[in-house]
Amino acid sequence: MNSNCVFCSIINRDIPAQIIYEDEDFLVFDDINPSSKIHKLIVPKKHIKNLSEIGIEENKYLWNKYIDIINILKTSLKVLNFKIVINNGDKLQLVKHLHFHFLSGDDVNDKLN
Ligand code: 5GP
Ligand code: ZN
Repeated sequence: MNSNCVFCSIINRDIPAQIIYEDEDFLVFDDINPSSKIHKLIVPKKHIKNLSEIGIEENKYLWNKYIDIINILKTSLKVLNFKIVINNGDKLQLVKHLHFHFLSGDDVNDKLN
């Protein structure tokens, strides 16, 4: 828990969010400023800055869990076309707490970024 971190505050229920999934390690909620009709953020509860900060074993554990959650989302949201985006590093991350963007909907763009 990092008290200056907006995602830690959401995980700690100090600030509200539209939470759609939770388990012991992860929280999934709507992005406050969606880039497409469906824009979820998949966030580990542990305050990890980004993928560069963790070792191979923790990376593998998180990726395994992400795959499970992506499968849950694609089924529960009934989407066939979706995009996963990771902004990794100070230059690219607005929020310095590891997260995956899950984007879908008719308006999701087909560009690389
Ligand atoms: P990044 O550029 O770090 O990958 O993206 C961070 C994302 O977090 C952005 O899409 C932004 O809209 C979202 N975000 C920032 N602050 C909040 C917040 O307080 N609540 C929610 N639900 N999303 C947020
Ligand atoms: Zn955090």
